[in-house]
Amino acid sequence: MACVPAFAQTEIGQLNMELSPDFAIQARKIEERIAIISIDVETDYSGPQHEGLSRLPELIEMLSALNIPLTAFVEGKLFVIRPDLCEQLISSGADVQLHCYDHSANNETPESLSLGIAAYEKFVCRLPEGYRAGNYKLSNDLFHALVANSFKWDSSLLPAIGRGGKPRLAFEDADYFLLGNCITEFPIAVWRGIPIPLNQAYRRLITQPGEALLRRLCRLPRLLVYNMHMVDLVRTQSLTSAPLPKPIKYLYQYTWRGNRRESFDSLREFIGFLHEKGYRFTTASKMYSEVRQQ
Ligand SMILES: [Zn+2]
Repeated sequence: MACVPAFAQTEIGQLNMELSPDFAIQARKIEERIAIISIDVETDYSGPQHEGLSRLPELIEMLSALNIPLTAFVEGKLFVIRPDLCEQLISSGADVQLHCYDHSANNETPESLSLGIAAYEKFVCRLPEGYRAGNYKLSNDLFHALVANSFKWDSSLLPAIGRGGKPRLAFEDADYFLLGNCITEFPIAVWRGIPIPLNQAYRRLITQPGEALLRRLCRLPRLLVYNMHMVDLVRTQSLTSAPLPKPIKYLYQYTWRGNRRESFDSLREFIGFLHEKGYRFTTASKMYSEVRQQ
């Protein structure tokens, strides 16, 4: 199939304008429950600190002990300034792919994407195939830059209410998308029926009683791309000086109220819950290989 983004009416064509005016979106379904545990590997709260980031080895160790594969979207500049962590990810067998080049820049451009690709290629010795945009902002220009750089898949869209979210994409029967006939999109998980993100940060925000209610009221997405950041797992001093909008900073502070120091246990419990619900765990790259053959 020709890889040419073009405006087209598809079964969800009316939603194209939500994302982009000039490439088609097609909905795709899967038959079984599949979970992809992913992390955005980046500096703390888009600032200069590494306090949370430096505890990444604890997450790697925990998931390894649970035999859960990890998909890691690494901020491009970290291949240069934190080669130790990138090496640990690769050594652990994680599916290492590319995040934006520099979170503090707020917007990825085709030029900064090129910097990220170059840093990735120099370190990993191959080109990245998967991508996640910073703050879930997959712009039109960025989409075309991904196509031009031969990316195969993306996991940037958050079909939910929230920072960078696109709640109108949260319709019932799509598990993933094909963008412009050439990029496979694995959207980040939301609770089915209520466009609330299903990720580590929002699970902590709604607290255990809130989540218990959602577990009763909502279905889980068949393809569940779970996302987190190290600052969602560990409490850091970085939050005090984080370059975040005040309301966002307040919400983060709220989630760390009381004496909580970390939330690895919450992640472990959620993984157990997914096991009970019959989810099979894989990486995004393996998922792409599976759907490509369909
Ligand atoms: Zn990020």
